[in-house]
Amino acid sequence: MSQSALGGSGAVTTGLIGWPVRRSLSAAMHNAAFAACGIYEQYALWETQEPALAERVELLRQEGMRGANVTIPHKVAVATLLDELDAEAQAMGAVNTITRTADGRLVGSNTDGAGFMVALREFGVDAMGARVVVLGAGGAARAVAYHLVLGGVAQLTLVNRTLAHAEEVLGGVMEATARDAALHALQSDDAEAEAAVAQATLLVNASPVGADGVGMPVPARWLRTDLAVCDLIYRSTPLLEAAKACGARATDGLEMLIQQAALSFAGWTQREAPVKVMRAAGLAARDGAAT
Ligand code: NAP
Repeated sequence: MSQSALGGSGAVTTGLIGWPVRRSLSAAMHNAAFAACGIYEQYALWETQEPALAERVELLRQEGMRGANVTIPHKVAVATLLDELDAEAQAMGAVNTITRTADGRLVGSNTDGAGFMVALREFGVDAMGARVVVLGAGGAARAVAYHLVLGGVAQLTLVNRTLAHAEEVLGGVMEATARDAALHALQSDDAEAEAAVAQATLLVNASPVGADGVGMPVPARWLRTDLAVCDLIYRSTPLLEAAKACGARATDGLEMLIQQAALSFAGWTQREAPVKVMRAAGLAARDGAAT
């Protein structure tokens, strides 16, 4: 994809490292933010497979570079290529943002969880005292669970296809947060999963189930009017449609994507991110995309 097609102008100083990334909304959001701030720079989409990762990261050390975002499949592996990880990236064991310091050092951070919490507040849900079920036990589930526990949830149940992964994530969250919340791990087909959702005030889908427009991570009959439903997939899903159909409040993951991007932008530029501009660009890119 040409740079002009990505909507930016000026030197490339930031970008997204991952594979595949050509359909990402990040360039649209960041290039709109640069333009709104009068910064004559560009954000690029860097399709990067594993053998080229180290070389791509080294290029960020060059004078004038600000940093990068990192996505699947490199969020974990990239950590070993950086000079420093902030506390959150250490706790997550994963990096979604690299920031180049003035002396060329590369610092890894992770804005996914903080972005989720801002989006949750925008959605009108208070984590304090909430009873939450999170579906999935990958990087997104870990970031969300960590911040929900720090945010004061009363109860958090991680439901995942592979129980051992959910237990591993919860163990890490307990160690990193040292908070007094009731934390449970369940396998997806465990009968207790339905009971956990029945008691929950918030359901978060942090698995990719539903991204194909077909899959349902939990049966529709588990949903109810007073359950807030949040899907991290950044477009509508069968889960969100089913939640709306039964009168529940439902939101997709676009706002989380926008807010994590805004935090990255602020870190690179030391300026407040123009969130409204980024939201409009993200929405236009998503809804203008073919699928
Ligand atoms: P990941 O690290 O690959 O984790 C995926 C998790 O989902 C794993 O726990 C996996 O279970 C489970 N899973 C995968 N396929 C499944 C299936 N067919 N049936 C049941 N469970 C399945 O992915 P991630 O980075 O955490 O991302 C998860 C989702 O969040 C993706 O849809 C991603 O796009 C979205 N996300 C959104 C944002 C945002 O800003 N909105 C940010 C990050 C991620 P096992 O443990 O059994 O393998």
